[in-house]
Amino acid sequence: MNDFSRLKNMSDEYLEQLFSEIKEIGQLNTNLIRYLEDTFPEQGEKIIEVLKRKVMKYIYLPSGRVIWMIKGEKQKRYLLYPKIFCSCQDFYKNTVIKKTRPYCKHIIAQIISEALQIFIEKEKEDEKFNMLIKRLKSEF
Ligand SMILES: [Zn+2]
Repeated sequence: MNDFSRLKNMSDEYLEQLFSEIKEIGQLNTNLIRYLEDTFPEQGEKIIEVLKRKVMKYIYLPSGRVIWMIKGEKQKRYLLYPKIFCSCQDFYKNTVIKKTRPYCKHIIAQIISEALQIFIEKEKEDEKFNMLIKRLKSEF
């Protein structure tokens, strides 16, 4: 199977498997970097960059609503639903429109951060949720 069809065939199941494999590697070390470069030849390095910019998990209280957020370049921020959706342009272009692959580098970075427990978790008040959504809209 070539890279393209392998990527095209990726599914939720694949991302689940990716999660387990990364969990097994256990930490952000050279093994993991090599694994990422093999698995995502064109995005391995970019995924590491995303991880360095930090993956945020916000828990809104008292509702318990969870929001994942990733910082992009140039002060941009992307809203992310694990394994399902990212608000970045790449996801829109290549996943929603062209359907060439079911993820972007942020989706993969979130999976890694959760598998290795290296995300930053913050609790926020529910009131702040609406403010966040408004701010994100203005950033598009
Ligand atoms: Zn993205």
